[in-house]
Amino acid sequence: MSQFKTLSDYDVAGKRILLRADLNVPMKNGVVTDSTRIERTLPTIVELVQKGARVVLITHWGRPKGERVAEMSLAPVAEALAAKLGQNVKFASDCIGEVAEKVVNSLSDTEVCVLENLRYYKEETDNDIEFAKKLAALGDLYVNDAFSCAHRAHASTEALARLLPSAAGRLMQAELEALSGALEAPQRPLAALVGGAKVSTKLDVLNNLSAKVDMLIIGGGMANTFLNAQGIDVGNSLCEHDLADTAKEILANAKKNGCDIVLPIDGVVAKEFAAGAENRIVKLQDGVGADEMILDVGPASIADIVERLGNCKTIVWNGPMGAFEIEPFDAGTNGAAQAAAALTNAGTLVSVAGGGDTVAALDHAGAKDDFTYISTAGGAFLEWLEGKELPGVEVLRATA
Ligand code: AMP
Repeated sequence: MSQFKTLSDYDVAGKRILLRADLNVPMKNGVVTDSTRIERTLPTIVELVQKGARVVLITHWGRPKGERVAEMSLAPVAEALAAKLGQNVKFASDCIGEVAEKVVNSLSDTEVCVLENLRYYKEETDNDIEFAKKLAALGDLYVNDAFSCAHRAHASTEALARLLPSAAGRLMQAELEALSGALEAPQRPLAALVGGAKVSTKLDVLNNLSAKVDMLIIGGGMANTFLNAQGIDVGNSLCEHDLADTAKEILANAKKNGCDIVLPIDGVVAKEFAAGAENRIVKLQDGVGADEMILDVGPASIADIVERLGNCKTIVWNGPMGAFEIEPFDAGTNGAAQAAAALTNAGTLVSVAGGGDTVAALDHAGAKDDFTYISTAGGAFLEWLEGKELPGVEVLRATA
């Protein structure tokens, strides 16, 4: 990975730092209901404050589509940030122009302000350079701490970095270091675990990973599509029958790339998609009943996955191994996650996970805190797994 600058590369004392964070936090009736995103970017804010900077936070919230939607104001977010930070946070009711300038110019060293929702201007999502110039006028240095927004080329994530000296914030830095450690220069053997519902939503993920990893362990609903392609009767399971040829191609390409594809050998099947549904364990080579659904990988598959993980040095994980939200079909995800967590704790495995339901699945398994790195970046994490360049990251590298 070519380098990018970080907070360590600049003297920030007395400077106005335009900090692009992801403060798109859940809110209900004007009250922040989950501060996780604030907490994750807090180390960057605290470091800047402690170094005597003037911190100007910019972020989007929701999709106001270029309109001033009162319910999408960031005023409650500024309040929630003040509570976490333990100091006053000023708020500007506009993110550009005189109103924003007045608040930014009123900041003393170590003070923090939040500017109003960037997406009140459609120029933000248009990556409009004139809008970016108006933002740039409010800062001396641009810091991007919003990896979760880096897959979008917006004015505050892309154009702005070309107008001011720029750096990755500590959260962005941690994310990039963890991700590059896992796929760009990993300790091998390197395995990817890919599960979840459908092959069609993760075609690019599967193709990219099978060219990079030594072993691709496929579970969840998407394994059914691969089993079906191999002539196994998956009954009433979630299965994309029309993707049989695509699945075969992925298998053939993986083989060409020397990537070992691991599919479940047994499954837990039920007639109902419901918690506690009557179920049985089947060897998948025998197929399942016409009215049965494979809802989880079976115990032999879990044992197989656990043994393979024991031989790996690095894993990347996206998607649950089964319908983890409903017991007992969470056993496969739990078993693999707990094994990965234990190996990570023992210091023999680097484990990186993220995207969609994965964080919830690993949390459910009680394994979340033991992984080396869990990305909460959803869409950006998936695009990274797909091997795509993320505009918000590329521009930090290009301008470093
Ligand atoms: P994704 O967002 O693609 O990662 O998919 C996550 C969803 O896949 C979760 O809601 C799981 O319940 C679902 N899922 C995983 N395995 C299965 C399965 N064997 N049958 C049906 N749904 C599944």
